[in-house]
Amino acid sequence: MLMQAPDPTPDLARDLAVDQALDRTRDRTLDLALDLTLDLTGAERARILAKSALFDPPPALLADGRRDLVGLSRAELAAAVAEIGEAPFRAKQLWHWIYHRGVTDFAGMSTIARGLQAKLATHFVVGRPQTVTAQLSADSTQKFLFRFRDGQEAETVYIPSPEEDRGAVCVSSQVGCTLSCRFCHTGTQTLTRNLGAAEIVGQFMAARDAYAEWPDQAVGKGDEAGTGEAGGGKSTGGKTGGDKPTCDKTGRLLSNIVFMGMGEPLYNYVNVAKAITILMDNEGIALSRRRITLSTSGVVPMMDRAGAELGVNLAVSLHAVRDDLRDEIVPLNRKYPIKELLAACRRYPGASNARRITFEYVMLKGVNDTPADAHELVRLIAGMPAKVNLIPFNPWPGSAYETSTPAAIERFAKIVMDAGFASPVRSPRGRDILAACGQLRTESRRRRAVA
Ligand code: SAH
Ligand code: SF4
Repeated sequence: MLMQAPDPTPDLARDLAVDQALDRTRDRTLDLALDLTLDLTGAERARILAKSALFDPPPALLADGRRDLVGLSRAELAAAVAEIGEAPFRAKQLWHWIYHRGVTDFAGMSTIARGLQAKLATHFVVGRPQTVTAQLSADSTQKFLFRFRDGQEAETVYIPSPEEDRGAVCVSSQVGCTLSCRFCHTGTQTLTRNLGAAEIVGQFMAARDAYAEWPDQAVGKGDEAGTGEAGGGKSTGGKTGGDKPTCDKTGRLLSNIVFMGMGEPLYNYVNVAKAITILMDNEGIALSRRRITLSTSGVVPMMDRAGAELGVNLAVSLHAVRDDLRDEIVPLNRKYPIKELLAACRRYPGASNARRITFEYVMLKGVNDTPADAHELVRLIAGMPAKVNLIPFNPWPGSAYETSTPAAIERFAKIVMDAGFASPVRSPRGRDILAACGQLRTESRRRRAVA
C-alpha cells in the first residue's frame, strides 16, 4: 500500500508519524518487560512479606489491657474510638492532639471534656518508647537508646545540620538485621524482631519531646533542648548540655527523617510504610515525602512497591561496583545483583534532577576506593538522576576495615563529580559516641515469653 500511493505527508510530519509508531512498539515492548518484572517480583514480594511477618512486633498493649493509640492508622483509630461508643469526630480530634500537638496525657487535650478524657485514659494511652540513655556528641549529634514495651531496644540518632536550623532524625526499623554487610556494626547483631509503626513513629516523637519541638513548645524554647535528659533517661558519655541547638521559627529543628538506623526498612515494609503514612499525614506531623529518605541495601522487589506507594526519597547502599566484591561486602547482592538493583533504581518513580536517587558508598581503604572503581561507578549510573554520598568508613569495636585515606576519597569524589554527579563526602557525625552510620548496635534481648 505504501509503495503504491505517493505519500502526501510532508517530511516532518512523516518522520513524526514514524517516530510515534516506533514509540508505540517500544512502549508495548516495555510494558511486556515491565509486566514480566512485576510478575516475577510480585511472587518474590509475597515471599518477603510472609517472612517479615514472622518477626512482627508484639501488639501495642499495656499489661493492664490499655491500648496504645500511637501507630494506629486513621481507620484503626476511628475503629478504636467507635469501640468505646464515641463519635467519629473524636478520632480526628485525637489525631490532632497526638500527632500535631504531641500531647501524651489525655488531661492536656483541652478540646475534649473532662469526663471523656477520663474515659479515654481507662482504655488507651498515648505511648512513647522509654529513653534509656541519651548521649550528646561533641558535634551536637545526639544518640538515644530507646526501650520498647517488651524490653527490646533500638538506637535513634538526631543529626543537626551544622549550618542551618534543621536536622535529620535517623530512625531504626528493626532490632538487629538479617543482612550482614561486612562493614556494618548492626550486621553483627542477628534480627530479633521488626519494629512496629508505633515504635518507628515513636522514635521521632520521643526525639521531638527531647527538643521540646511540638508547636506549643518550640518557638522561644529552643534553649531547653539537647540536655540529654529526655523522658527521664540518663545521659551517658559524650557531652551533655553545651552547644544546645535552637529551633528555627518554623519549629522544625527536626525537619527530616532518614531510615538509616538499625535494620533494613524494606524487610519490614508493612510497618515502615504505615509509619511513613502517619508521619506524612497533613493533620499531624506533616512531613513532606521530600523530607523522608528510605535507605535500602537493595531489596529490589520492595523498591518498586515503596516507589509506587510511598514515593519518598530513595537511598541505595551500593558500596561496590563489581558483583564479586558486592557479593562479599553486601551479601544481599547474591540475590539481587548490581544490574537488577540499578534497573530498579532507573524505574523508581518520581526520580528527577530535583529529586535524585542517592547512592551511598562507604569508602573502605584498599577495597573499593580506586580510580577504576570510581570510573565504573560513573558508567553504571550514567543517565540517572543521581548523587553519590561518599561515607568514610566508620570503625566500630572489632571491625575489619580501615577508612580510605583523605587523598583516595578526594580522588574518587573528583572523578564522580567531573562526570556530572554531586559527590559530597559525608563528614562523620557522632563518631565519639558510636552514633555515625553503621555504628549502631544494641544487645539483643531474648524475646519475652508470652504469658
Ligand atoms: N539497612 C539500610 C539502612 C541502614 S544503614 C541500608 O543498608 O541501606 C545506613 C547506611 O550506613 C548504609 O548506607 C550503610 O551501608 C552505611 N554503613 C553501614 N556501616 C557503615 C560504617 N561502618 N561506616 C559507614 N557507613 C556504614
Ligand atoms: Fe543491615 Fe544496612 Fe547494616 Fe547491611 S548496612 S547489615 S542492611 S543495617
